[in-house]
Amino acid sequence: IIRFEKVVKKFGEVTVLDELDFEVRKGEKVTIIGPSGSGKSTVLRILMTLENINDGVIYVTGKPLWHEEKNGELVPAGEAHLREMRKEMGMVFQQFNLFPHMTVRRNVTEAPVQVLKLSKEEANERADKYLELVGLSDQSDKFPSQLSGGQQQRVAIARALAMHPNIMLFDEPTSSLDPELVGEVLNVIQRLAEEHDLTMLLVTHEMQFAKQISDRVCFFDKGKIVEQGAPDDVLTHPQEPRTQEFLKSFI
Ligand code: ATP
Ligand code: MG
Repeated sequence: IIRFEKVVKKFGEVTVLDELDFEVRKGEKVTIIGPSGSGKSTVLRILMTLENINDGVIYVTGKPLWHEEKNGELVPAGEAHLREMRKEMGMVFQQFNLFPHMTVRRNVTEAPVQVLKLSKEEANERADKYLELVGLSDQSDKFPSQLSGGQQQRVAIARALAMHPNIMLFDEPTSSLDPELVGEVLNVIQRLAEEHDLTMLLVTHEMQFAKQISDRVCFFDKGKIVEQGAPDDVLTHPQEPRTQEFLKSFI
């Protein structure tokens, strides 16, 4: 459902993704781990078309992002195409990025109304459904500032789900939370992974969690995948010295 082919991303002179080949199948739960600066967030931001790439091709649900093939040539894709592609994906950031001046309910209904053109009633039904799923039915009239970090992140998850994406992207969803709030967010993500046939791509430093929910773990270093495989293989019995070195810091 996601496919990177020889993707190169540079910031100035710095190569952040170095001919990256990477694939996620439909329904698969894939975790990306790796040191700071290895390009993990960049992969997700590129998928959300928040960043452009310098070379290579990326396919989402079989269609290329940015580049459309016409008569055997690659040409930049139009805005309308990008908007369609973005609808395939929902993203949850490290910082919750909620709209501070909107209630919890408005945060969840805003994009379905504005982007998907749902009626208020339909959008409210979705909000009810997903706020219940994340355990926040009773908080819908509050503003983000009145919620704990864990609650805010759960609103962000409900907001992404309300767009009915096929793919959910999580970028270190718990790393800005106080330790006692991490569990409630991980529980919600775990339930999603178990009960919904969403495709999930998750960047995390929670190794135990990665082990529980992932079908596959990818270790990134310097813009390449150094090692990937079943969570037990990569996290418990890593073969590559760089993976072993990285994982030592989590014991
Ligand atoms: P972390 O674990 O710290 O979140 P990461 O693996 O997510 O790291 P990225 O955010 O993908 O790393 O960044 C990869 C590299 O790209 C880093 O060296 C970073 O400094 C650089 N970089 C990211 N965004 C920009 C930008 N907008 N301008 C310039 N350099 C950038
Ligand atoms: Mg990052």
